[in-house]
Amino acid sequence: MSIHRKSRFEVNIMKQAGNVVALVHAAMKDAVKEGVTTKELDDLAYKIIKQNKADPTFLGYHGFPASICASVNEQVVHGIPSDNVILKNGDIISIDIGATFKGFVGDSAWTYPVGEISDDKKMLLEATEKSLFAGLEFMKSNERLENVAGAIEDVAKKYNLGIVRQYGGHGVGRSMHEDPFVFNYRTNNGLILQRGMVIAIEPMLNLGGDDVEVLEDDWTVVTADKKPSAHFEHTVHVTDDGPEILTKLL
Ligand code: MG
Ligand code: MG
Repeated sequence: MSIHRKSRFEVNIMKQAGNVVALVHAAMKDAVKEGVTTKELDDLAYKIIKQNKADPTFLGYHGFPASICASVNEQVVHGIPSDNVILKNGDIISIDIGATFKGFVGDSAWTYPVGEISDDKKMLLEATEKSLFAGLEFMKSNERLENVAGAIEDVAKKYNLGIVRQYGGHGVGRSMHEDPFVFNYRTNNGLILQRGMVIAIEPMLNLGGDDVEVLEDDWTVVTADKKPSAHFEHTVHVTDDGPEILTKLL
């Protein structure tokens, strides 16, 4: 495993990449509503990323055909935006966004409600967001990466939610996916966090069980029991004082 620790100069560029991602999320928050297609959301994201002199990191990544991942209800991650997916009242939609600015990547996902959602779905969104921030509290020099994962797992267990096992967080830099991989549950990972590491933390929690499968499009990941799933992610810089979230508005 080789982990590239970023200089302050590099982190400052990454903040600008993260700002572009945050701008897109701000627009998504307003644009997500009943009757909108996920292709329309993708077009809007592409426009904003380009207007800000960045490139959509996902577009063409291993052949992915869009700028955002748009995953509705039981879709966990990697949903492909489509003219045929029209948001309905009561849906939830996880939108994952990547932007590359001056060679560096920002990566952040959020799950949005469409209109009025059920109490179960509200709980799922609140708990998954809470698990992200519980994990982030441990993003500090000399802390164990395992404690980030453990904090996420503890929130998931408290709310009796499934934890997606096959996907997780990752280092971010000039590439979207760098070492280390970050599980969303305790593992025997002895990695000690150090200043300058930049890592995306991204819990994916389910209203049902842990298991997921990939649809025939070879991209869309869905829960095996078809129960709803949520996904919250920030790209974060480890400092001596704690987490510095890079995917937020400057
Ligand atoms: Mg992401
Ligand atoms: Mg990610």
